[in-house]
Amino acid sequence: MDMTRLRGIGVSPGIAMGEVLLPKRVVFTSRKEIIADNQVPDELKRLRQALDRTREDLVRIKEGVREKMGPDSSLIFEAHLLILEDPALVGGLEDVIRDEKARAEWALSKANTRFEQLFEALTDDYFRQRRSDVSDVLKRVYRNLEARREKERAPQKQHILVAHELLPSEAALRLSRELTLGVVLDVGGQTSHTAILARSLAIPAVLGLRDITRQVREGEFVIVDGTDGEVIINPPPAVRREFQAKKEKYETYGRELQKTAKLRSQTLDRVRFFPQANIELPEEVAPALAMGAEGVGLFRSEFIYLRRESLPSEEDHFEIYSRIARGAHPRPVTIRTLDIGGEKSLPQLNIEKEPNPALGLRAVRFSLRNVELFRVQLRAILRASVRKNVRVLIPMVTEVDEVVDVKDIFEDVKKELRRKGEAFDERIPLGVMIEVPAAAALTEIMLREVDFVSIGTNDLIQYILAVDRSNEFVSYLYKPFHPAVLRLIRSVIQAARKADKDVVVCGEMAADPLQAIVLLGFGLRTFSMNPIFIPRIKKALRSVECRTAEKIVEETLKLRSAQQIEEYLIEEVLLRHPQVFLTGQPVANGPQK
Ligand code: PEP
Ligand code: MG
Repeated sequence: MDMTRLRGIGVSPGIAMGEVLLPKRVVFTSRKEIIADNQVPDELKRLRQALDRTREDLVRIKEGVREKMGPDSSLIFEAHLLILEDPALVGGLEDVIRDEKARAEWALSKANTRFEQLFEALTDDYFRQRRSDVSDVLKRVYRNLEARREKERAPQKQHILVAHELLPSEAALRLSRELTLGVVLDVGGQTSHTAILARSLAIPAVLGLRDITRQVREGEFVIVDGTDGEVIINPPPAVRREFQAKKEKYETYGRELQKTAKLRSQTLDRVRFFPQANIELPEEVAPALAMGAEGVGLFRSEFIYLRRESLPSEEDHFEIYSRIARGAHPRPVTIRTLDIGGEKSLPQLNIEKEPNPALGLRAVRFSLRNVELFRVQLRAILRASVRKNVRVLIPMVTEVDEVVDVKDIFEDVKKELRRKGEAFDERIPLGVMIEVPAAAALTEIMLREVDFVSIGTNDLIQYILAVDRSNEFVSYLYKPFHPAVLRLIRSVIQAARKADKDVVVCGEMAADPLQAIVLLGFGLRTFSMNPIFIPRIKKALRSVECRTAEKIVEETLKLRSAQQIEEYLIEEVLLRHPQVFLTGQPVANGPQK
């Protein structure tokens, strides 16, 4: 048999190999079967019995999932029960049976089509995904219409689950840590329930393969590479061996990570540090906490805009910020206001192309030019701050007057909310990003206006060195160890410590073991990064003494080039704390955005 390699979206990392299990699909009828007048009461009764059975199923699944995966994962079944009990839905089904003298199957099929059209018209990806919740409930009722319905038996042996679509309740029912080795679907993406569930159960999964259900047969051997988003059907022995080795490497590293996530974040000489997560979606909060994040250090809110075609409303913002604040509570959450411009354009607003976008109308400059949009966002952040764990962060400030303007608007929005009687955290901290050399030089003065600073090293390095952070032709000049970079960063950290204010690094430098040690030596304690890097940074910082790091970095400041500094650091750290270099690779590769 020939090998077939297919590319999809890797939504849950890891490698799985095994035989395919292809569960039967529920297909709604396209035939309208007409019944006699006197059959209508029986048909209505049949529908009601199916609804009752569905309710029982859902309660049972909800309890099972709660036990297996905790209360958060079982929440979707609460939602399903609410959908099932929606009088409009049930009334609509009964109306079709009564008015059209049709079978219940037809009523469900019609309802499903109507919902599909309704949700299809929505532009928001998140809500489009929720279509599957309604569809899930309807399919379950459909299946339950058969009096002698096929009992959904859990599979008995280990398998790779291949399906067109896995509805949330099916996913919860079918996915088992012991028996499901991997999951492969025709449809789905990063934020689908199956993806979230697969990640929380640590089952490798590749979704969005379009028509894999037509390309494999039950019992065929497949490899699922959830890390790189690949599925291989009928691999020959050499390919199996290759992936077996990759699997073992991945699993060894995974075991190491698990251990680290639960350990206290402190250096060898017991100096406490705080790893936090940079995230772009609310769904990332729980996995980030599982990786050992002690809060969200940076929520890049521009992704709310980038994921939709129309402008988000205040409620859209509010819902997302609340989910993050709730998910991370009581840990802190830093929400950065819109950082648009540069390489991230906003499709909804027809922003003019600029000749030099990195130096153009970006971030806070854009917000101060579009005050109404800015106020919507600030209102939503304030309203989401009721649990008192939210902080606001302003990107790309270059001068104090910008901070003053932002504060005026912020205070005005607070007044407006007070007038309306809306609750918010009166002491919500406001901070600025230090990612432009001008702001770095003014840290001390900036800190008279704000509560904390967050150093965005990705941009700061590009602006200090005049090297485009995403241009591969000059990437050899992009040097975090450049003495000018280190001096400026040290001065920012020192200014913040002197002012007794919080300082965070949320750029890529916080995610590199050697660079993180330098930052620790400069006095940094909060490191925010893509969550997949947290375990390795935790491991690296737990393997050093803070006082040694302080001594080493003082020496680096006497050196004259990035190369000298890097060599010196490697030698010193290797000599004193060789474990730092055994921190391994992150779970998934690739730079942060
Ligand atoms: C940075 O510039 O370091 C940063 C964290 O912001 P972004 O990467 O989103 O520009
Ligand atoms: Mg930046």
